[in-house]
Parts: sequence; C-alpha cells; structure tokens
Amino acid sequence: MNKKSLQYLQMHTDLESVINDLSPHMLGAKPAFTVEAKTPYDLFIETVEQAPIAISITDKKANILYANVEFSRVTGYQITDVLGKKESILSDKSTPREVYYDLWHTISNKKVWHGTLCNRHKLGHRYLADLTIAPMLDDRGIITHYIGMHRDITQTYEAEKKVSNHKLLIESVINSSPMAMVVIDDQDQVILDNHMYKTLVSDLDKGEPADYFLKLLRHELGKSWQEIQDKHQGFSNHEFKVESKANKPVRWYSCSGNWFIETSVNADAFFENVSKQYLILTISDITRQRQQLQELRLQSLKILISEDERIRGLRETLLGAMHQIQMPMNQIKASENILRHKNEQQYEGVIQNLVHIQESGLVAINTMEKCIPEITQSPFTSVNLNQILHDVLLLSDQRIEATGIEINWQPLTSLPTMLGSENRLRILFKQLIDNAIDAITTTKNLEQRIRISSDIDTDLIYVYIEDTGPGIPTDKRSKVFEPFYTTRPMGGNQAGMGLVIAKEIVNQHHGFIDIDHSYTQGCRFKISFPLQTPPARRNV
Ligand code: FAD
Repeated sequence: MNKKSLQYLQMHTDLESVINDLSPHMLGAKPAFTVEAKTPYDLFIETVEQAPIAISITDKKANILYANVEFSRVTGYQITDVLGKKESILSDKSTPREVYYDLWHTISNKKVWHGTLCNRHKLGHRYLADLTIAPMLDDRGIITHYIGMHRDITQTYEAEKKVSNHKLLIESVINSSPMAMVVIDDQDQVILDNHMYKTLVSDLDKGEPADYFLKLLRHELGKSWQEIQDKHQGFSNHEFKVESKANKPVRWYSCSGNWFIETSVNADAFFENVSKQYLILTISDITRQRQQLQELRLQSLKILISEDERIRGLRETLLGAMHQIQMPMNQIKASENILRHKNEQQYEGVIQNLVHIQESGLVAINTMEKCIPEITQSPFTSVNLNQILHDVLLLSDQRIEATGIEINWQPLTSLPTMLGSENRLRILFKQLIDNAIDAITTTKNLEQRIRISSDIDTDLIYVYIEDTGPGIPTDKRSKVFEPFYTTRPMGGNQAGMGLVIAKEIVNQHHGFIDIDHSYTQGCRFKISFPLQTPPARRNV
C-alpha cells in the first residue's frame, strides 16, 4: 500500500478495523492484522493497491481515506491531492441529482449501488465512470465506511453508442425506402422490418408476407433456391400476382433478395467460428407498372385486331362483290350456251356481245381478286388459351360495359398450353364473343349473360362460349359456317364471313368448332384443340 494512503488511513480511522472489515470481502478469511509481516493481509493490500480498477475507501460522508494507483491513473489526481477530499471532487456536476439521491438512498440503506456517473478528469475532460459502491458495516451492523470501485467506460460507451447510432441510421434508411424490406433468419423468422413491410402486413390478407413470398420464391426457384442460398447469391425481380380473397383488385409484387452472414456474438462462439445466415428480402408493389404494361399491350392488341378487321372487311367486301358479279356472269354464260345451241346466224351478234360482257366481267373479277389483301400468318408458338380469352375480354371490355351484359368467366386453373397463333386465336374468340354480344342485344331477355369457360380431357383443350341470346335454329346451324350466310343485313364485317373465318382459324389449329345441340337457353359454341403435348398413353 502506498505510504501516503496508509499513513492517512491510520491517522484518520481505525485502520485495523477497516482492513479487517474489508478482507472478508476480498479474501474470504479474516487475517491477523500486522502491518510489517508479509502475510495474506499484505497480499490483500498489494492486490487492492495493484488492482486494475480505481478503488477508493471513504468515511460515511464520502471523504476519501484511501485510493489505489489505478484511481490516480483513471482520475488524473495524485493520491495526496484527494486524501481527505470528498468524492464529489470527481463530479462533472452534470450527473442529475436524482442519480445521487438514488446512490445515497441505496448505500445508506446498506445495499450495494451500481451505476454510471459523469466524472471530470483532473485535466478537465469528462469521462464516464462505471461505479460500484458498497457500504462497510461493523460488528453491530452500523455503516463505518464505503468502498467505491470504478472504471472509465467512455470508450466502450462511445463504441456502443456508435453501434446503436449506426443501427438507427440503417433503420431510418430502411424505413424511408419506398419498398417493403424485411430481414429473415434461417428459421424464417422476421428479425427486422420497415414501415412499408408493416403496411404490407395489413394490406395483404396472407398472414406474414415474408412467409407468403418465401413460399412463392421457393416454389418458383425450385432446386436453385438451395443452391443460391448455399452460394449466398442474390436474386432479383421475381414477379408475383397476388389475388386477395376480399373484393380487392389483383396486385403485382416484385421480390429481390440478398443473403448476409453474421458472425455469432454469443460467448459460446468465442473460440469457435459460429455464423448465421440472414436473408434481406425487398418486396416492391409493381401493380402500376404492370397496369401500364397491360394497357400498352392492350393498345397494341387493339391496333392488331382493328388492322385485321380492316383487312377482313376489305376481303369480305371484295369477295362479296366477286360473288355478286359471278351470279349474273353464270346467267350470261348460260344464255350464251342456249343461243349457241340454237346455231342460228341471227344470234351471232348477241353471242359476241355476251362474250364481250363475260370477258369484261372476268377482267373485273380478276382485278378484284388481285386487290384482295393477304392475311399475314403469324408463326405458331406455345399459347395459353386462358390468357387469350382474358385478352379478348379486356379488348371487348368497353362494349360489354356499355351493353350491361354479365360475363361469367370460368377458366380452368393451370390450363395446359397448345401450339397456335396468338393473333389468329384472338380473332377467333373475339368474333365469337362479338357474335354473342350482338345476339344478346337483339333479345329482350332479362338474363343477359355470356359464360366463357375452359376445360381439358386427355387429348383436347375445350373452350365453351355460351350466351343467353335467341340461339340459332336447328335447320340453320350447319349453314352459319357457309360463306355469305347471315341472318343479319349484309355489309361491312357482318357480311356472313365471321363464322367462316372462325372455322378457318379453328381448322388451321387442327381443332373443331360446333354448336352444342343440348343447350337451349341461347347459343353455345364448343371449340376444341389438341393439347401441345398429349399425356403419354398407357399401353393396353
Ligand atoms: P452532495 O451534496 O455531495 O450530494 C448530493 C445528494 O446526495 C444530497 O442531496 C443527498 O441526498 C445525498 N448525500 C450526499 N451525502 C450524503 C450522505 N453522507 N448521506 C446520505 N446522503 C447523502 N460522485 C461522483 O460524482 N463521482 C464519483 O466517482 C463518486 N464516487 C463516490 C464514491 C463513494 C465511495 C461514495 C460514498 C460517493 C461517491 N460519489 C461520487 C458521490 C459523491 O459523494 C457526491 O454525492 C456526488 O458527487 C454529488 O456531489 P455534490 O457536491 O453535487 O452533492
């Protein structure tokens, strides 16, 4: 023990009792007190003296009676500077009074106080003291002294504060993100999320959104999920359509993710390199972009369809005109043949005229034939008929809304694909739906409904389009597929070629189109196409 402290302690207190009071706390046994001998007591004194923590012993009024070397190093005061002075000499005067009140209330009630105070170093700078004060009692249980032990924790505090500020900064950056962000641990538990994610929890009726999107991602990525997880590879822009059970509109979300590895901070992992993998998942609502894309797509489809209708109209008009010219031409030919048969000189002039008329007619027909525009054939690709029917319904949306017709859309979920021309198939179904709308609007039927459904069996895909219009009489059912047969006035694209073209498109796709005889509430078209890859047949 340093001499100054020791002398001071001996002068101002009953040193023996202090040391004997102190020693059981430090040594567990009460040593025989001798200042000179190198006893366990000496060892105890040396331990206290050299302990790497600032130790001070005070009287009941916090006057310092003893301080060790570390106290001098931490506070900056020489031992002689502080002996006999109050502990308040260390105070920066910025610690709230309530803290001191709590301190004194605790220790004067014979309990140990532990807390953090703001101290001022002798050189003037502040430091944070992690302080423990224990009261020392005599045999009668009366407080005689206090022992204080403190460490300068300024650097640790600053480091902790930096980490927590850093965390706050990250959280505020994450929170200000317009995308939902969530950190998920290897047990799929949400560790951290942002405001947008919380909004998603309430907006979607899918439980925990992280679970919902993880399930979709795992399903979509299949075996690659494990691979990218093992290699810590990120993934981006996986888009999912989310249909809500309630009457909310369909929404689209895009998911991206990155993995990060955290080295464990647990004591268990101190000597082992234990790490944990987390997934940072970002979920963005891309419904608006999708809608804009869809609108653009619809616009281009509308242009394609209207161009096709224009060409079809022109073809039908010219074919109709040729058909109309051909009838009198046939009569003229018949008249020419009759006159030739009579073999009389007097008819020669008339015959020549009839030949000239036929020649001019033929020139006109040939000219018209050359003017018939070609329909461009688009290549066959893998086609989903549900998507085509959905497109057609969107294309006819305005007309359907204007007529107030109810659409009952019953697609078969997971409809297999077929080989076909998207554009041609769109024209086919648009024709059939337009016909159905026309038919319904001619009736005063209270139930105005079009039902569209898709189905499959082992080899074929079926589409049914039924309406609650007047229907097609049995004797006319075979004629409706003949050219220029129409129940409506002639002209434009209603020149009786609609179902002819529909049948032609169905034929090009190796399919069938029929009118269902069993349906009596209106008209039901049944269209069937071969599946792209028919399921393997069993050998019988
Ligand atoms: P003070 O007037 O000293 O005390 C403020 C309030 O504390 C009083 O209103 C009263 O409620 C209570 N109080 C003060 N003395 C007593 C008492 N004897 N009995 C009951 N209640 C009392 N303070 C530091 O700022 N830094 C330190 O490192 C530090 N170490 C200490 C170590 C020990 C062993 C002890 C016993 C005390 C220590 N203190 C320390 C507390 C210190 O004694 C002062 O209470 C504190 O510094 C406030 O000083 P002050 O002059 O502003 O107010």
